[in-house]
Amino acid sequence: MEKTHEKYTKMLDEKGMKISHQRIKILEYLANNLCHPTADKVLSDMKKVLPTLSKSTVYKTLNALVDANLLKELTIEDNEIRYEYNLVDHGHFKCEKCGNIYDFDLDFSMLQSDKLNGFKINEKNVFFKGVCKDCLSADKA
Ligand SMILES: [Zn+2]
Ligand SMILES: [Zn+2]
Repeated sequence: MEKTHEKYTKMLDEKGMKISHQRIKILEYLANNLCHPTADKVLSDMKKVLPTLSKSTVYKTLNALVDANLLKELTIEDNEIRYEYNLVDHGHFKCEKCGNIYDFDLDFSMLQSDKLNGFKINEKNVFFKGVCKDCLSADKA
């Protein structure tokens, strides 16, 4: 097996997940594409390397990897779920022109409020919207 695959095999193994070629390939894809793809985007890109891959396999695999905390699910707009491999808390910026979603570092420990004392927080999202640097400079040109 290829060297990079060992890493993903180990990750799956540590979570007690069954190791399959699809799971390894999907993890590898997300690790190499930090652009927050939707499941449909994962499917259409992965079909190029795994033509027999079905939509239900992709959806099931992504869900299983999220359940195992190997991937993070990102719902920044109600109608679309995106996936990402970057498990460290970070903020997101969505460009309204090109649709790209950018990660930015953020100290999440600042995001606390006494009003939430006693609450159980499952997810923290920081989501900015606007126009990215590239689109702004394209406008000026
Ligand atoms: Zn943009
Ligand atoms: Zn992100």
